[in-house]
Amino acid sequence: MTTSPSSSPSDSSSANRPRILTGDTPTSTGLHLGHYVGSLENRLKLQEQYDSYFLIANVHAFTTLADKPAEIRANTIGIVKDWLAVGLDPTKSTFVLQSEVPAIAELTFFFAMLIPFNKVMRNPTLKTEIETKGLGDSYPFGFPMYAVGQCADILAFRPELVPVGEDQAAHIEMCRDVALKFNQMYCGVGNRIPADEHAKAGGVFPVPKAKIGRIARLAGLDGVNKMSKSLGNAIFLYDDAKTVQKKLNKITTGRQSPTEPGDGNNILMQYVDAFIGNTNPERAAELRRRYTAGDNIGDGHIKAELGESINALIEPMRQRRARLETPEGEAEVIRVIRDGVKKANIVAEETLAMAKEKLGVGFGRRTLGF
Ligand code: ATP
Ligand code: MG
Repeated sequence: MTTSPSSSPSDSSSANRPRILTGDTPTSTGLHLGHYVGSLENRLKLQEQYDSYFLIANVHAFTTLADKPAEIRANTIGIVKDWLAVGLDPTKSTFVLQSEVPAIAELTFFFAMLIPFNKVMRNPTLKTEIETKGLGDSYPFGFPMYAVGQCADILAFRPELVPVGEDQAAHIEMCRDVALKFNQMYCGVGNRIPADEHAKAGGVFPVPKAKIGRIARLAGLDGVNKMSKSLGNAIFLYDDAKTVQKKLNKITTGRQSPTEPGDGNNILMQYVDAFIGNTNPERAAELRRRYTAGDNIGDGHIKAELGESINALIEPMRQRRARLETPEGEAEVIRVIRDGVKKANIVAEETLAMAKEKLGVGFGRRTLGF
């Protein structure tokens, strides 16, 4: 590419702002409450101060949905609709479609040389996913490979921070290891240089930090697993008010009566903290006190109050998403994706060129025709 980062169309100040990168995999038509409290809330704040990159991991969706490409496409569009509905702003940040950024795939291969195979297979996030998604032992080679690919998703944009839920902590750790190793092996950064100083010491990659959301791991409606797109245990941001209440009503805690002292750590109490405590901490504390004391308050009552506050939170998002469920809305989404692809490739190509130079495979910059 001949374009320098300071002429990035993202805006004139983007080159001076520190970067963040995070993203979602299009394994479902939209996002859920876990995404909101685990990552989206942070993204909304951070996009005001950081040069922000939000990535749709549509290539990684093939790890579990390889036989359903049409579904992955529809999910991709659905997730961008939710991003817009929540308030992620493509004029302030860059939306990145993974499949259209070739530098990511190229970095993946080089990074795969820096991580021992056994370490990938011991990654606790992968292990949990294999178990909860029932992948058994017949998952494709590309499934564990996605953990390496995610290092490239992140490092291609050389961010300082990665706003994610707690389930991603192991992946970010792996990404930090890759950055450290690359900088040490190829950029002459000494082993004793602290992670924070790698970029200053000549490393291509700043060593990024995870930024975990207000609720690190929101439990799903099953009360056991984390809320997940793929596990059928989620309240989606576009669910209508009745569906939200119906889903809440199905939660079981095992509590028998309004006078039985309830478990302060159960899923209902977690949701009270997450969705009532955020706007009305006194009410959340009162509900918790009465619930744990068995002070004449039933699960049904808690569920009704939760339904009200969750619906109040997501109503504006639902309305904005509904406005995008039109041919014009669809066209807007495609436009936003195309614009993002152009902006994303400027930065990712620059990173790839820097990395190739250090790897000894730099033979002149190429130009992509985006
Ligand atoms: P899948 O079931 O396909 O893995 P998912 O629901 O886990 O989907 P991802 O696209 O994998 O969603 O995750 C997107 C982001 O949302 C990540 O940063 C992840 O940590 C965060 N996240 C997902 N679920 C939760 C949750 N229940 N609580 C907090 N953060 C979450
Ligand atoms: Mg996930």
